[in-house]
Amino acid sequence: MGRQKAIVIGSGLGGISCAIRLQSLGFDTQIVEKLDAPGGRAYVRRAEGFVFDMGPTVLTVPHFIEELFSLERDCAMLGQPDFPPEILGDDQRILSGISGGPNTSRYVDIIPILPFYRIYFDDGTYFDYDADPVKVREQIRRLAPEDLEGYEQFHEAARAIFKRGFLELGYTYFGNVGSMLGVVPDLLKLGAVQPLFSLIKKYFKTDKMRQVFSFEPLLVGGNPLKVPAIYAMIHFVEKTWGIHFAKGGTGALVQALVRKFEDMGGTLRLSAEVERIDVVKRGGKRVATGITLKGGETLAADLVVSNADYANTYLKLVDKQHRRINRDMLVKFRKQSMSLMVIYFGYRKREGDPDLQHHNIILGPRYEELLTDIFDRKILSPDFSQYLHIPTLTDPSLAPEGHHAAYTLIPVPNNQSGLDWEKEGGPMAEKVLTFLDERGYIPGLRERLAYQSFVTPDYFEQVLGSYAGNGFGVEPVLTQTAFFRPHNRSEDVSNLYLVGQGTQPGGGTPSVMMSAKMTVREIAKDFEVPSAIVNGVPALETAA
Ligand SMILES: Cc1cc2nc3c(=O)[nH]c(=O)nc-3n(C[C@H](O)[C@H](O)[C@H](O)COP(=O)(O)OP(=O)(O)OC[C@H]3O[C@@H](n4cnc5c(N)ncnc54)[C@H](O)[C@@H]3O)c2cc1C
Repeated sequence: MGRQKAIVIGSGLGGISCAIRLQSLGFDTQIVEKLDAPGGRAYVRRAEGFVFDMGPTVLTVPHFIEELFSLERDCAMLGQPDFPPEILGDDQRILSGISGGPNTSRYVDIIPILPFYRIYFDDGTYFDYDADPVKVREQIRRLAPEDLEGYEQFHEAARAIFKRGFLELGYTYFGNVGSMLGVVPDLLKLGAVQPLFSLIKKYFKTDKMRQVFSFEPLLVGGNPLKVPAIYAMIHFVEKTWGIHFAKGGTGALVQALVRKFEDMGGTLRLSAEVERIDVVKRGGKRVATGITLKGGETLAADLVVSNADYANTYLKLVDKQHRRINRDMLVKFRKQSMSLMVIYFGYRKREGDPDLQHHNIILGPRYEELLTDIFDRKILSPDFSQYLHIPTLTDPSLAPEGHHAAYTLIPVPNNQSGLDWEKEGGPMAEKVLTFLDERGYIPGLRERLAYQSFVTPDYFEQVLGSYAGNGFGVEPVLTQTAFFRPHNRSEDVSNLYLVGQGTQPGGGTPSVMMSAKMTVREIAKDFEVPSAIVNGVPALETAA
C-alpha cells in the first residue's frame, strides 16, 4: 500500500498552506523551493543584527491561520463551514489583545495591532484608522465633518458587499462561465462591479476621506481607480477581524507553518529550482507526472501544484507542445499588477522621536494622477506615496538594542515600463530616505542610519521569478476577477493545479490561504477524496 504523492512548486504562503492541506487530504507532499529559505514574498532579510520581513506585514483574518494549524494528517476538514458562527459576531478579541487561536498559539504568537494604520496626508494632518466606529467618526468629524453622513452610507454598502462577496461567495471557485453568471445580478445590485473609486466618490466629498477609504487595495496590488468595488469588503474584513502581527515578524509565521507541515509528515526541499513540469500524453490527455529540477534530477508525483508565478508557470515550466494553442496569447495579454520598491533600513532610536505607528501610510501630494502614472502611464513620478512599517515599535527583538528596524514600500510601475532600475534604484532610495528625514517623520535619519538596502521590480522578476517583475501577480481588475482570473485547475494539463496570488480569489495573505483551500477542494473532487474524512483514516491509500 502506498500513498499518492504531491509536489508543490514554491513555498510562498499560498504554497505552504496548500501543502498543509494536501497532507491533511492524505497525500505525501513535498515542497520544492528555488530560494534558500521558505516564504517567497515573505522571505526574511537578516543583516547586522536587524531582521526585516521583506514582504507582507499586515495579517488579517486570523482564523484562516488557526484553521491551518488545526489540520491533522488525514483529516481534510473540507466539509466544515468556512465561516463558523463563532467567528461572525463582534470580535472582542481585537480589543482584548488576543488573536491567535489555541492551535496557532502552539506554534506562533499572533497579536492585534491598533491603530490599524496611521494615514498621513501631504499637509501633515493624519487619520488613525481602526475598528472602533466611535473613534473613526471622531476623526472624520475632526478632518472632514461634511463626510460624516457619507461614511454611514458607505459603511452599510461595504457591509452588504462583505456579506455577499466575502462570507457567501469568497470561497466560490469560478471554474466555468455558468458559475459566474449566477452571481452577477447580485453583485450588480450591490454596486460591486463598478470601480471602487466611483463608489467612494459617491459617498465621500473630500479628497482626504476618498483616499482613506480607497487606498487598501494597493496592499494587494490593485489600483483603487480600477479595482472593482467588491474590494470595499477589505474595509469590513479588517473591521471585523482586525489587523495582526506575528511576534518575531511574518517570517515567524512562515517558520511556524513549515514546522506544522513537517509535523504532519511533509517535506520541504530548499535551493531546488524547478526547470520543467513533466507531462506525458495518456489516453488523449496531457497528464503531469512530476517535475525536473535544474541540474536534471526528476521527481515523480501523482499531482503537481504550482505556487510559482502564473504566467511563468505556463511560459517557462510547461513545454510549449503541452500548452493550449491560445495559452501564450492569453498569458501575455493579461494585465500584470504594479511593482514595488522596498527600502529596508535600521536606525538609532532618539529621545523625542515623532509618534509614528507600527503601520504608517504617507500619502503624497497627488493621488489619482499618481495612480495613473504607476498603473497606466508606467512612468516614475517625481512624487510618491509610501507605506512605512516599523515593527520594532511592537517587537524590539527585531533590531539591536537601541535601534529600530523599518521598511518603506513605494508602489512603482512593473517592468513593462522599460525603466532601468540599476540606474534609478539608488537615487530613488536616497530621495525617499531624505524625504522621511527632512519632512520630520524621522528627523536626522541620514545621520542615524545603521543599515540600508533596497529591492526594485528587478528583484521580483529575477529572484522571485515574477513575469514583468509584478509585485502581486495579475492585476485585480474586473476583467481578471472570479472566472476571468487564472484558474486553479489547469485546463492544459491534467493533475496540474495552481495556487497563490495569481489565481482565484487573488492576492494578499488571506486570499492566498483561501486559494489553497479552493485548489485543494478541486483536487479532492478530481481524486475522489471523500469530503468528510474521519480523523486518522488514510483517505488515499492505493494498492502498490
Ligand atoms: C513588499 C510586499 C508587501 C506586502 N504586504 C502585504 C501585507 O501587508 N498584507 C497582505 O495580506 N499581503 C501583502 N502582500 C501580498 C502578499 O505578500 C502576497 O500576495 C503573498 O505573500 C503571495 O504568496 P504566494 O503564495 O502567492 O507566492 P509567493 O510569495 O510569490 O511565492 C512563490 C514562491 O515560488 C518560488 N518559485 C518561483 N519559481 C520557482 C521555480 N521554478 N522552482 C521553485 N520555486 C519557485 C519563489 O521562489 C517563491 O518562494 C505584500 C507583497 C509584497 C511584495
